[in-house]
Amino acid sequence: MKRRDILTGAGALAMAGCAGEQSATGPAGTAETFEWKMVTTWPPGFPGMQTGVMRMVEQIEKASGGRLKIKIYAGGELVPPLEVFDAVSRGSVEMGHGAAYYWKGKTEAAQYFTTIPFGMTVLEMNGWLYYGGGLELYRELYADFNLVPFPAGNTGVQMGGWFNREINSIEDLKGLRMRIPGIGGEALARAGGAPVTLPASEVFTSLQTGVIDASEWVGPYNDQVLGLQETARYYYYPGWHEPGPTLECIVNKEAFASLPEDLRTIIELATTALNESMMAEYTARNADSLAALQDNPDIDIRRFPDEVLDELRRYVDEIIAELVARDPRAAKIDASFQAYRTKVARWTEISEKAFLNTRR
Ligand code: CA
Repeated sequence: MKRRDILTGAGALAMAGCAGEQSATGPAGTAETFEWKMVTTWPPGFPGMQTGVMRMVEQIEKASGGRLKIKIYAGGELVPPLEVFDAVSRGSVEMGHGAAYYWKGKTEAAQYFTTIPFGMTVLEMNGWLYYGGGLELYRELYADFNLVPFPAGNTGVQMGGWFNREINSIEDLKGLRMRIPGIGGEALARAGGAPVTLPASEVFTSLQTGVIDASEWVGPYNDQVLGLQETARYYYYPGWHEPGPTLECIVNKEAFASLPEDLRTIIELATTALNESMMAEYTARNADSLAALQDNPDIDIRRFPDEVLDELRRYVDEIIAELVARDPRAAKIDASFQAYRTKVARWTEISEKAFLNTRR
């Protein structure tokens, strides 16, 4: 038999086996179905993030033969975007999608699992999370909040953001009101700026009405979806504050434990697939979208001066040293993160970075 015939035959057999069993049963013979609710921090239908979550949920439903159905509520539809963590933690809903650094008000240590400014790229973050002890620490931290976290998406290196003034020296950040979350925002504060954390849905209006002077969001693709190119002239790179931010899927601990093993495995697989496919999507769409910005005479794409990046790095180092000194949970995670970063940087130096430097 040719390979194609074998596959067709196997398919026919599998279908025959299912005939008459329309209510799919799991391997353990259970026909129990689960109907879950999921809340996200993203606007309805938002490309990349929300659409990625929608794709994942569809895969979970198909892979489970309809035994795990998840109804998604975008940011604000059931709970405000930045209350996803609380909603899943207290069990009002079973599942959520967002980014760990939004929850620094709950535990500052969470920020390590999204990104640390000047920290790790997406390849390095995934290395740490899946094979360097990061995921165990992530689960240990979130267990205190009744949550099981899964890495579930990444945008890759982001852009530095949109500014309505040139940034030629660190002085130019003084008094700047900017949407920038996490430790990146704290670094801006040390430079004399005023960071704010806003969900995607509020960024455009805040910039357009002058409530803020600058904002980072993601990169060429997503920033144009929000219309940020209409609000500011200067588009700076690189995204020093988010070199490879991991997004997360969080599941209420009791809800997760209530699932049979195969459904738990399906969640594990589907989130891992999203972690990979979202990165691929951002790579492709950012490349598509960059051209329009480069051709736009009203947009000035610039690199941050080294002097500015050096100062920001110094602030980040100070912020992390203080964080580690006051928060034992952050200290434990930081030790793992920094040791891994040092180790993997040696490899990146002679692999990715060395190769990229050869490219013309
Ligand atoms: Ca961002």
